Amino acid sequence: MKKITVVIGGGPAGISAAVYLKRFSRDVTMVEQNMMLGGQVIIPHKIENYLGFPEGIGGFDLASMLQKQVTDLNIPLVYQTCKSITKNKEGFSVLLENNEVLTADFVIFAVGTKDRLLSIPGEAEFMGKGLSTCATCDAPFFKNKTIAVIGGGDTSLTETMYLSTYASKIHLFHRRDSFRGFSSLAEKIKNNPKIQIHYSCIPVAIKGNEVVNTFAYRDLKTDKEHTLTVDGIFKFTGYIPDASLCEGLVDLDSQDFILTNSQKETRTSGLYAVGDVSSKELRQIITAMNDGAVAANHIHHTIITGS
Ligand SMILES: Cc1cc2nc3c(=O)[nH]c(=O)nc-3n(C[C@H](O)[C@H](O)[C@H](O)COP(=O)(O)OP(=O)(O)OC[C@H]3O[C@@H](n4cnc5c(N)ncnc54)[C@H](O)[C@@H]3O)c2cc1C
Repeated sequence: MKKITVVIGGGPAGISAAVYLKRFSRDVTMVEQNMMLGGQVIIPHKIENYLGFPEGIGGFDLASMLQKQVTDLNIPLVYQTCKSITKNKEGFSVLLENNEVLTADFVIFAVGTKDRLLSIPGEAEFMGKGLSTCATCDAPFFKNKTIAVIGGGDTSLTETMYLSTYASKIHLFHRRDSFRGFSSLAEKIKNNPKIQIHYSCIPVAIKGNEVVNTFAYRDLKTDKEHTLTVDGIFKFTGYIPDASLCEGLVDLDSQDFILTNSQKETRTSGLYAVGDVSSKELRQIITAMNDGAVAANHIHHTIITGS
């Protein structure tokens, strides 16, 4: 009898799993909530550490190639949000937003992570109205404008350098009193005359009328609140996992990432967690793809051996 795998999430982890399964001649269907595959790969303007592209590659360009690889292999793709995964005697039921239910012998959970919320007034109201999490998508709107960037991690610094090719002035807010990541990047940021760094400052509110016009922040050293007039705000403050669709089927680590064995299988036989949603040391494209391939290979061998 045919054994079916449903892959939930069309980022690099899910794509890798689906491509490997298809090439093993296994039945696989992908479920992706966005209209384009690629997941977070779409966001960075340039990816410099993904092998095979010595000059680097634009995130959107890489995502387009991944999408082509899936469609060229005729992997069935369902553009829907998965609402629940349940385990039953026969295998799994995957409920989609349109109430369609996909049945599966194996499920590969590859939903990545979500933006960490700032939880400040104005965040929800101004998202997409001057508040952005994607420099690639929105930087051109801020040509010769003044913007604030929130976050002092490596992603934030990389994206800030890119934003500085558009904006005339960038206020970079970091909650710590120094940068911890790549020192060469931090040096470039410090030496960029367009960028003013505000150490030990946290966001307090985002204000505006139709669109953002003010950023309020607190200086932790003086405990005083200040406001800045800005044309836009970018936040790069990290990402959190959401394993709620697998509730009751998986164990989580202390930060709510899904625990798996070395084959990327969760505590529920037949349910795999791959990529950024799973508990691991390094969350990158290459490790997400590795996870997908490992899970696919395990499913393939499980079917062959009947174990
Ligand atoms: C700004 C930025 C810069 C980065 N730069 C680099 C870099 O230079 N090099 C590098 O290697 N990595 C980089 N990364 C990290 C890399 O993009 C991630 O590690 C990788 O994309 C994780 O892959 P994933 O498949 O696990 O998750 P994701 O890429 O997050 O994909 C998950 C997919 O699942 C879908 N999904 C979620 N929930 C559902 C649901 N309920 N139903 C259906 N679909 C769902 C999402 O829409 C998404 O398409 C960067 C990330 C960001 C945000």
